[in-house]
Amino acid sequence: MNKDTECPCQSGAAFATCCQPVLHDHHLAATTEMLMRSRYTAFVRQNAEYIQASWHSKTRPKTLNFDDHPVTWLGLEIHGCQQGSVADSSGTVDFTCSYLENGQLCKLKEVSQFLKEDGLWYYLRGECRVIKEKIARNSLCPCGSGQKSKRCCLTK
Ligand SMILES: [Zn+2]
Ligand SMILES: [Zn+2]
Repeated sequence: MNKDTECPCQSGAAFATCCQPVLHDHHLAATTEMLMRSRYTAFVRQNAEYIQASWHSKTRPKTLNFDDHPVTWLGLEIHGCQQGSVADSSGTVDFTCSYLENGQLCKLKEVSQFLKEDGLWYYLRGECRVIKEKIARNSLCPCGSGQKSKRCCLTK
C-alpha cells in the first residue's frame, strides 16, 4: 500500500474500499468507528457536504470554511469505542487526530458522541483538547515523508 491508494483514516485499507464508498453513501457507515473514520477522511479531502450530512442537525454548523483553517492532516488514531455497533443507537469514540497548523504539530484528543437516527449514524458533539508542539525545521517532518520539515510541510 502506498500513500496514494491508502485511506487517509489509516485503517490500513485502500481508500477505494475503506472510506470512499462511505463518503458516497452515508448508510455504509454501519458503526460509529466507520462514521468517525469517514468524517476524518472527509476533513482530509475537504468534503464539506459529507461532514455536514453526517453532523447531527442539533449541533451542525451552518457553514464549513476550510480556508479559515489551512491544516495538513497527519493521521487518526482510534483508542476505543463504547457501544456504537450495528445494534446500538448511540456510542462514543475516543480518538486522537494529528495535524500541522501554522508550523506547529497539533494533537487533538477527543471523545465524540454519536447518535443513530433512522438507521444513520450522526456526530453529535465532543469534548476535545489540543496539544501543540513546535516542530524543529531541521528534524524529519512529522508527516512521515522522510524530508526535513523545512522542505516539507513547514513551507506550506
Ligand atoms: Zn478509511
Ligand atoms: Zn511533511
